[in-house]
Amino acid sequence: MVFSRARVAVYVDGCYWHSCPDHATVPKANRDWWVAKLEANVKRDRDTDARLRWAGWEVVRVWEHETIVDAADRIESVARERPGSAGSG
Ligand SMILES: [Zn+2]
Repeated sequence: MVFSRARVAVYVDGCYWHSCPDHATVPKANRDWWVAKLEANVKRDRDTDARLRWAGWEVVRVWEHETIVDAADRIESVARERPGSAGSG
């Protein structure tokens, strides 16, 4: 999801695949492989965030477990702060 005028990119991250602090788990079988795999996902997320910010975008990451209301509030408040948003004229 992208708000192109405000340059805000929104990702919805799955609790499992993106190692949510509340719900992250690692399967017992092939544990080392999973740890490396899930750490690589998180590292790639941070890399993606950094690249977007260098390019002038703001990134909002919503966890799978968040309610749509919480997520929408957060996205709206970030978008409002952005140059080019409706709020800044
Ligand atoms: Zn979660």
